[in-house]
Amino acid sequence: MAPSPTPRDNRGDLSMSSNKTSRIGLPALDVSLAFPQATSASVFPPSVSDFYQFDDLLDSKCKDLRKKIRMVMEKEVAPIMATYWEKAEFPYHIIPELASLGIAGGTIKGYGCPGLSLIECAVAFAEVSRVDASCATFILVHSSLAMLTIGLCGSEEQKQKYLPSLAKLSTVSCWGLTEPDYGSDASSLKTFATKVNGGWVLDGQKRWIGNSTFADILIIFAQNTAENQINAFIVKKGSPGLEVSKIENKIGLRMVQNGDILLKKVFVPDEDRLSGINSFKDINKVLAVSRVMVAWQPIGITMGAYDMCHRYLRERKQFGAPLAAFQINQEKLVRMLGNIQAMVLVGWRICNIYESGKMTPGQASMAKAWISLRARETVSLAREMLGGNGILSDFLVAKAFCDLEPIYSYEGTYDINCMVTAREITGLSSIKPTIPGKRSRL
Ligand SMILES: Cc1cc2nc3c(=O)[nH]c(=O)nc-3n(C[C@H](O)[C@H](O)[C@H](O)COP(=O)(O)OP(=O)(O)OC[C@H]3O[C@@H](n4cnc5c(N)ncnc54)[C@H](O)[C@@H]3O)c2cc1C
Repeated sequence: MAPSPTPRDNRGDLSMSSNKTSRIGLPALDVSLAFPQATSASVFPPSVSDFYQFDDLLDSKCKDLRKKIRMVMEKEVAPIMATYWEKAEFPYHIIPELASLGIAGGTIKGYGCPGLSLIECAVAFAEVSRVDASCATFILVHSSLAMLTIGLCGSEEQKQKYLPSLAKLSTVSCWGLTEPDYGSDASSLKTFATKVNGGWVLDGQKRWIGNSTFADILIIFAQNTAENQINAFIVKKGSPGLEVSKIENKIGLRMVQNGDILLKKVFVPDEDRLSGINSFKDINKVLAVSRVMVAWQPIGITMGAYDMCHRYLRERKQFGAPLAAFQINQEKLVRMLGNIQAMVLVGWRICNIYESGKMTPGQASMAKAWISLRARETVSLAREMLGGNGILSDFLVAKAFCDLEPIYSYEGTYDINCMVTAREITGLSSIKPTIPGKRSRL
């Protein structure tokens, strides 16, 4: 641990102070003026969580990518994130900066996509999440879910038509699987697709769909009424019968615009059906990759929380000594750091197994479940160590703490992912119970 505190630089705070207004309409007091003992997260702390030199495992291309993302996120996003998070608005003006990272399209090769390795994508998601998990989720839904569905399950014409502008973030996409009545039980969808002359008619509802309030294209999953199998469709923004309303009052990932979608006889032409999705098994090909990517979000979030805590504890004094000098805080810092090292190594190994073509669904599920569980412990340690400031979004850890909650629950909840792994290792499924008086669905 470096002995002297990081020099203060509150440029980011001061630039925001003029346009911030409190909830009761008064100008908000700049946090750096109200609490001069510690630097807020708008001036992001240096990265100090790589204790076991994970960097040595990365090639120079990957290191360069990470450096570039770190610079853009710390410079462009850190100064504005608490304001937008509080307002629950997406900072649309930074989309060009996010596009400049060159990560949209991830592992897809060709069609203007970057063709990254899985570990490059993983490191990229961690770096974005280290500063802001909402931005990471925005890219994840767009790239690792929607674009990847087109990349893996679309026709050549669909890939040529849609992927190049999505890769540049000139157009934005979303991915609609979850429904109001079917979350974990997503294979039982009640949005229906009926074949008509020249296309399909979609009827139903979707819930929680990230980016959907402004997405140019929406990937919508629906049950084909003729075959009772799940199909996927590319629905365009503004299609007659399509309504999207924003879900308000979230406590986490507040910048992400999650929507409720209503589909009332929405016509989709034949050319916009994704012919590679003919059952839930086909969706699992996409989820295998996205679940690994989601596992890297908690890794990045905890890196940021650790960096913040590390700086704060050396700046803030109580009883005449920096908080970092107290043994009880030192134990908590070490516990956080140990968790991060273990999480990184699990995340790194699952990428290797995927790239070797040997990854099983149970392995991906355990990585996502275990990493998000450890991350929950890690960010709650950070939250408590910042005392009162641990509940202010300005100091990052409260935001990190809240942002982790939806991640713990999406892309398969912790419980569902544990049950997927347990089914694989025991050969016994506990996912669909037998209700007395009803026939078992096992
Ligand atoms: C911020 C956010 C963003 C999201 N973005 C998207 C998106 O872009 N696209 C999309 O399609 N979806 C999205 N989702 C939906 C997400 O995938 C679901 O919320 C998730 O799958 C859980 O479903 P649910 O919320 O309906 O919970 P439920 O399925 O109702 O589960 C509630 C609780 O019951 C438990 N449970 C459920 N079934 C079982 C069982 N068999 N055994 C034991 N326990 C069980 C769960 O673990 C959980 O604790 C998003 C969700 C959130 C919160």
